[in-house]
Amino acid sequence: MGFSKWISLVFILHASLALPVFSKSSLSPEDLAQIPVNFLDFAKRPELSEWMVDIRRKIHENPELGFQEFETSKFIRAELDQMGIAYKYPFAETGVLGYIGTGLPPFVAIRADMDALAIQESVEWEYKSKVPGKMHACGHDAHISMVLGAARILQEHRYELQGTVVLVFQPAEEGGGGAKKMLDDGALERVDAIFGLHVSSSFPIGAVASRSGPLLAASGFFEAVISGKGGHAAIPQHTIDPILAASNVVVSLQHLVSREADPLDSQVVTVAKFEGGGAFNVIPDSVTIGGTFRAFSKESFIQLKHRIEEVITKQASVQRCNATVIFNENEKPFFPVTVNDKDLHKYFREVAGDMLGTQNVKEMQPLMGSEDFSFYTEVIPGYFFFIGMKNETQGQFEQGHSPYFRVNEDVLPYGAALHASLAMRYLLEKQPKANPPKGSFRDEL
Ligand SMILES: [Zn+2]
Ligand SMILES: [Zn+2]
Repeated sequence: MGFSKWISLVFILHASLALPVFSKSSLSPEDLAQIPVNFLDFAKRPELSEWMVDIRRKIHENPELGFQEFETSKFIRAELDQMGIAYKYPFAETGVLGYIGTGLPPFVAIRADMDALAIQESVEWEYKSKVPGKMHACGHDAHISMVLGAARILQEHRYELQGTVVLVFQPAEEGGGGAKKMLDDGALERVDAIFGLHVSSSFPIGAVASRSGPLLAASGFFEAVISGKGGHAAIPQHTIDPILAASNVVVSLQHLVSREADPLDSQVVTVAKFEGGGAFNVIPDSVTIGGTFRAFSKESFIQLKHRIEEVITKQASVQRCNATVIFNENEKPFFPVTVNDKDLHKYFREVAGDMLGTQNVKEMQPLMGSEDFSFYTEVIPGYFFFIGMKNETQGQFEQGHSPYFRVNEDVLPYGAALHASLAMRYLLEKQPKANPPKGSFRDEL
């Protein structure tokens, strides 16, 4: 029986029987190629797609900020309970790890982020955020729904999994570095590879995009207080003007990228905050500036950080001001570069190509945006990709972090099926060469 028919039969039987176990060798390349196709068909069925829409809307209505995703986490655990999926909790305060499969190696992870943004939603629709000033404006509600959708597909196929899929629901992607805390709590111990995705308004529905190697930049934030001596605006000789000093600091910071960095090594320094003074006729005591810096290599990133501090303090002293610079790494940890594994890129192109057609698997340029998924790619092979939502017939889909951000819910089956296919085929294709070492059972399973 061809694998496709076999899969269909499994769906009919709801996979409640102890099904025969097969290894990769029993599947032809055609059989493997059929898995993503069947999973997408399955995910598009109303029973699964409507369920995912429902989940996404419930989460959308109840957004929670980083490390406060208590209700979201509870909701996810209730869904896992309903599906009979074992999980561990908490990781990094609100994080959840679900497990599907044998409980044995190899382990492959699929990841969703759970946090919302401090934005007041401006989209008027039935499932608008019920929490003033908070909104899922980056699509993390869709990411949760997709991983839960994948969980349902994989749970249906649990007896065919040749290893274990780890469902990673992590807190605080938006600047909080939830991924780092998940790692500190041991979330990815013994996981062989991890996949993550982000919805994107830049690519059409049914298309995905990514690249091998560096995909997203390393990022950090800085804040500086430039202090002078306030006084009457008409008698400047009795003051030390921090507004003028801070203005010169902003201009001097521009030199770091335009004059000091290699033009072929992309970097950004942006001053996005400038606060000082409150009256037309008073020179204030101090000015606070803040911003972000980005780079694609560790060396460039460290160099930028060093020079930002130096330029701010020294430039301020030219105008007789003092400056203190903080990088506030405890609250806003530096994100490393998100680097996609070369072999996983090849693997992703195969799986996504089988599902969507190779013309819909796009190569993209790196972006100066950042992702805390990068913490995972620092320690294990990882792969991050964008999944398209654009559909001109459904109007304009704004970019993330806009109060007008909308998710095209047609994307949910694609995300669920891709997660499930990437995980299942990874286990089928990446069987360990030798027997697993002693003590390799996960005692928590
Ligand atoms: Zn975001
Ligand atoms: Zn995001």
